[in-house]
Amino acid sequence: MAKGYLANKDRLDTINQFGKEIGKRAGFKCEWCGSKEDLRTWDYRPEREPEPATLALLCGRCRDLADGRKPDLVELRSIRDALWSDIPAVAEGAARVMATCKEPWVREAIEESFIDEEVKRELLG
Ligand SMILES: [Zn+2]
Repeated sequence: MAKGYLANKDRLDTINQFGKEIGKRAGFKCEWCGSKEDLRTWDYRPEREPEPATLALLCGRCRDLADGRKPDLVELRSIRDALWSDIPAVAEGAARVMATCKEPWVREAIEESFIDEEVKRELLG
């Protein structure tokens, strides 16, 4: 248990070291919806070594969505531009949230985006 705690702490330290870089990249706005509220670095691939490509600066609401809360239509629209990012944590992360909704335009938007083809297949079936 102590070992797990330490590993987790090391991980958080590494993520924090990227914090400044991610904040700058994001223009200190949520990389999904553009909000400036309660911004924090979000870890898209907790099973991998943290790096800027798998981290995104997200607001509190978008972190909720990332944690599995289903977005309403307004929220869906607010994050759709994130699909066009070339950062996997931003584009793929948003695509995973959007794919939980079955609106036809969501499917189309994900199909048209440049996210990894494998992720696309996984999300669209
Ligand atoms: Zn947001």
